[in-house]
Amino acid sequence: MTNSLTPEQLRRAPKALLHDHLDGGVRPQTVVELALEHGYDGLPTTDVEGLSHWFFDAANSGSLERYLETFAHTVGVMQTPAALARVAAECAEDLAADGVVYAEVRYAPELHVESGLTLPAVVEAVNEGFREGEKRAAAAGTPIRVGALLTAMRHAARSMEIAELAVRYRDDGVVGFDIAGAEAGHPPTRHLDAFEYLQRENAHFTIHAGEGFGLPSIWQAIQWCGADRLGHGVRIIDDITVGADGEATLGRLAAYVRDKRIPLEMAPTSNVMTGAATSIEEHPIGLLRRLHFRVTVNTDNRLMSGTSMTREFVQLHEAFGYDLDDFRWFTVNAMKSAFIPFDERLALIDDVIKPGYAAIAAEG
Ligand SMILES: [Zn+2]
Repeated sequence: MTNSLTPEQLRRAPKALLHDHLDGGVRPQTVVELALEHGYDGLPTTDVEGLSHWFFDAANSGSLERYLETFAHTVGVMQTPAALARVAAECAEDLAADGVVYAEVRYAPELHVESGLTLPAVVEAVNEGFREGEKRAAAAGTPIRVGALLTAMRHAARSMEIAELAVRYRDDGVVGFDIAGAEAGHPPTRHLDAFEYLQRENAHFTIHAGEGFGLPSIWQAIQWCGADRLGHGVRIIDDITVGADGEATLGRLAAYVRDKRIPLEMAPTSNVMTGAATSIEEHPIGLLRRLHFRVTVNTDNRLMSGTSMTREFVQLHEAFGYDLDDFRWFTVNAMKSAFIPFDERLALIDDVIKPGYAAIAAEG
């Protein structure tokens, strides 16, 4: 198989995305327009180009305060049903245009109630937007399916409420649950009641773990909370030693994660920006892919990281020489790990993903 893939080929290759934040992927133009519409005057600039650079620079500054400020602005303009629906529709359109055929997009309903919306109203507005975006994408010839993950904030105390919301809307656009926010000092075990409730309801959830914090966070997420997937999970590398001969030895936790095929939702650019990895070239994804962990490639925050699924693939192609087989493997991994029913995952793999890669391979 050819090893010189063009960015255009990687854009057309079908991709599956499991870890993307709705408030981390708003179009800069939309942030400006919504701010004007809703009288939000907190933006550092209303120049679209300037704002787009500001987001990237603030996210890349190495300062957590500045990084978090970026989300204050996107969340700040997403406080009405119309604004939420617009952002969700554009999210689906943008992902579809980037060649994403299946996406799970997450957001924290509790962050969108500042103007008096109820939690169910937030979920319904976002669902409406995703359905509209799916329609527009299908009309543009780039069909996509989008499912929502409802996120609870790990420093807050609403996880049980959000978990109940995820179950309430499980047959209406919501495919799972997540917790996010600063890891250090906020162990996932604080939210055990929510995770135990979800398990009793046969519901799916992922937990941000092993990004800013090490192995204990991953261990708790899996062995105490019962997470189906790990958000990032980059630090699992701390439980693997590689000898001078290149031979890898796995500790018990790393072995468990690999044996049980626990999906790792890795986002290379984001991981470098937050310091979870030193560079794309040295990103643990290289070793973990070689050792056949169930690795998936994700965007995390497209606006703040100035990225897309295609860009992540291009960078991995350049850093590790990954070819079409590798990218199909990452994509099938993600699809196998999705929270939609098994038969629907299989249909996407067999009818969309495999033929899509075969078509590009045939281009030679
Ligand atoms: Zn994330």
